[in-house]
Amino acid sequence: MTKKRFALVTGGSRGIGKAICLALAKDHKLNILLNYRSNEESAQAVKREVESLNIICELLKFDVANASEVSEKISKWKSENKDSTIDVLVNNAGISDDGLFIFMSENSWNSVLDTSLQGFYHVTQSVLKDMLRARSGRIINMVSLSGLKGNAGQVNYSAAKGAVIAATKALAQEIGKRKVTVNAVAPGFINTEMTADFDAEKYKELIPLNRFGDPEEVANLVSFLASDRSSYITGEVININGGLYS
Ligand code: NDP
Repeated sequence: MTKKRFALVTGGSRGIGKAICLALAKDHKLNILLNYRSNEESAQAVKREVESLNIICELLKFDVANASEVSEKISKWKSENKDSTIDVLVNNAGISDDGLFIFMSENSWNSVLDTSLQGFYHVTQSVLKDMLRARSGRIINMVSLSGLKGNAGQVNYSAAKGAVIAATKALAQEIGKRKVTVNAVAPGFINTEMTADFDAEKYKELIPLNRFGDPEEVANLVSFLASDRSSYITGEVININGGLYS
């Protein structure tokens, strides 16, 4: 029996994650397992959009930073869906909480690392064994330009994304033999709620393409990395930043 193929996208209810859900559904007919933390209304809206493409979209609400919640929700889904596999994992959920390091509270430091770095650990742990057994799978981690070059005012965010970049490279070396690839996508400024308060006019001047990117442009890259066409790429960090830095 052919199993139903799913892509698990964390933080799929808005912004870049939403665009990724739609791209994977459209481009690869992958069913979508859409994780979100709290915004039920947005998650339901994305679910309806994916379903309008005649693709299954199931919502899985959990906080990626919460180890027991992640493991319980994913295990339960797997046990209720034995006719399905998670072929693609996109670790996209992330938050920022900017401020100068000297004034940075422990809560601000921890929450940003817990979401990006611990989130990567919890969710990847929950799906990796099945991919290794199947000798097939794609893991794509959403990082950031800040994780490559560092960014003043974002020491917590830069540390979190830098750590996920290093984890991407290390894990790719561990599991390459099993034909599971692991790559990272590093966007610059993308038009989402995360950058809604930024002074776009000021930053645009620094970007060779002279504009912020759109979530769909990042999703196109993720869609390529999720496909068979990226079969010989692993352990890479791919920049998508309008020429701002590479
Ligand atoms: P948004 O703030 O627009 O959306 C964030 C998404 O992540 C939402 O779906 C949110 O769920 C979810 N989320 C946040 N925390 C958790 C959590 N603890 N558990 C589960 N889900 C969570 O962000 P973007 O789309 O802009 O960012 C997506 C990714 O891209 C992030 O990793 C970000 O760091 C990265 N990135 C973004 C850039 C940009 O310019 N926008 C640049 C570089 C990297 P809910 O709706 O329920 O709140």
